[in-house]
Amino acid sequence: MIIKMKFKDMPYERVDLVKMGEEFDKLTEKVRNAKDGETVVEAFREQEKLSTHIQTMSSIAYVRNSIDTRDKFYEAEQEFYDSEFPAFQEHSQNLMLAFYESPFRKAVSDLTGELMFRNLEMDLKTFSPAIIDLLGRENKLVSDYQKLVASARIDFDGKQLNISQLAAYKQDPDRDVRHGAYLAESGFYMSNAEKLDEIFDNLVKVRTEIAHKLGFRNFTELAYLRRTRNCYDPEMVANFRRQVVKDIVPIVVELKKKQAERIGMKPEDMRIYDDNFNFAEGNPKPLGTPDDIMAAGKKMYEEMSPETAEFINFMYSNELLDLVAKDGKAVGGYCTEFPEYKAPFIFSNFNGTSGDVDVLTHEAGHAFAYYTARDFEFSENISPTMESCECHSMSMEFLAWKWLNLFYGDDTDRAKYVHLGSALIFLPYGCMVDHFQHIVYDNPDLTPAERHAEWKKLEAIYRPYLNPDDVDFYALGRGWQRQLHIYHYPFYYIDYCLAQTVSLEFWSMSQKDWNDAWKHYYKFVEQGGKQTFTELCRTAGIKVPFEDGALKDIADGAVRYLEK
Ligand code: ZN
Repeated sequence: MIIKMKFKDMPYERVDLVKMGEEFDKLTEKVRNAKDGETVVEAFREQEKLSTHIQTMSSIAYVRNSIDTRDKFYEAEQEFYDSEFPAFQEHSQNLMLAFYESPFRKAVSDLTGELMFRNLEMDLKTFSPAIIDLLGRENKLVSDYQKLVASARIDFDGKQLNISQLAAYKQDPDRDVRHGAYLAESGFYMSNAEKLDEIFDNLVKVRTEIAHKLGFRNFTELAYLRRTRNCYDPEMVANFRRQVVKDIVPIVVELKKKQAERIGMKPEDMRIYDDNFNFAEGNPKPLGTPDDIMAAGKKMYEEMSPETAEFINFMYSNELLDLVAKDGKAVGGYCTEFPEYKAPFIFSNFNGTSGDVDVLTHEAGHAFAYYTARDFEFSENISPTMESCECHSMSMEFLAWKWLNLFYGDDTDRAKYVHLGSALIFLPYGCMVDHFQHIVYDNPDLTPAERHAEWKKLEAIYRPYLNPDDVDFYALGRGWQRQLHIYHYPFYYIDYCLAQTVSLEFWSMSQKDWNDAWKHYYKFVEQGGKQTFTELCRTAGIKVPFEDGALKDIADGAVRYLEK
């Protein structure tokens, strides 16, 4: 059954998290004292109902707060959840532990599948009360980094800019402006070099200490559990990276030569500040007003398949999108959901760039996946692990190619070229970020200088074309310090590379037969969270990215396409 409800009409009330904690404790008691499986299943269903309510209310508050950050009511609600949620989570974790330890656990897993408990088991290994203080230290260091980067006020172009405001200048058509912007950025990071080194050094030490306290050899082992890597290990990831180096890096080197020609330069003269400048005439832009772009999105999904047609009509008729930039809106874009209404929601700030189209393909890909799995009884079955969720969205970006002319008109070929090219260019970079972290956490005693040297070695392998010459921050092997994931979300980056690879497989399929590609994609999506990443690949009939040869076909197909 589909519950219809416009977002603006969804009622909201603050969830009493203290009372909820008590409810969860009662359920924990119930599970601990259960004499049969039926009782445990009953408790599991009650837990599901309460969790669904909490998630729906906190999601509504979050969305309304981001749509209008000036609204004091929802600002206070958001602050309430931010501050009260961690305490509540302890109750919820206790309950999950009770399910896990229950002799009647099988009664639950008969309904939900074993995977939920496998994931839970991984999760339980990442915590012990003995590390609470260390976790606090880890969080503090992460927020020190965040504050430091957010504090940037860089004098440029007669203004005081933050890092993201400066980013636009790094792609300016005027080479001197680009160069200047890179130097200004470098200046900011170099003036904080010591602090950035110190924060990261302390992070490596505290993360390693946490891992040792929990009985792991190093932080890498713990990080794989934290990220619920339930079907692959560091060796498999290393094999994937090797293939990227072998099959993708040479293509990117060629792409970069073509880029040099296009912008009227010799490849050997290209510098890091030319790297993101793709076309002398600027990047392709979508046509028309935000309303035109939204209408094109609707038409695309209506034509794509009966499933996407139903989905997009649900989204539009229930006003589950807030896409256009307005005063007071928070920055960025995301997809979330309101489980009590089985409804996804998409938020963004259209600004007239290709990013607007990406929202309607990428974020809508996430939303479509949620919509497809919305009727599964248990939330654990709806969403898979992170790399698989990104397969939903990144693959949709490529399946949308058939309709890209609705957005780009005469500029469609260029838009496709940029999209495919940037997917290929991303893979080596993403792998380098992952490789670096493996080196760092496997060798926690490296000094900051040794880490920078390692990064420089990796640059030569993964981005041999890139010449950072006089831009100190990059030339000295410190470029990784602007990659916030390395500080914030350790080992969370290969996820994008794996998903990008899967999306390129769907792209390659769709080049031969779009309908066939769609069928394979739908098989992946309709499993929701019931399978692991490698299982989903097999179910969908695509190559698992870790296996030998996984990238060869993609690489060949991409070369043929780009030459055309
Ligand atoms: Zn995404």
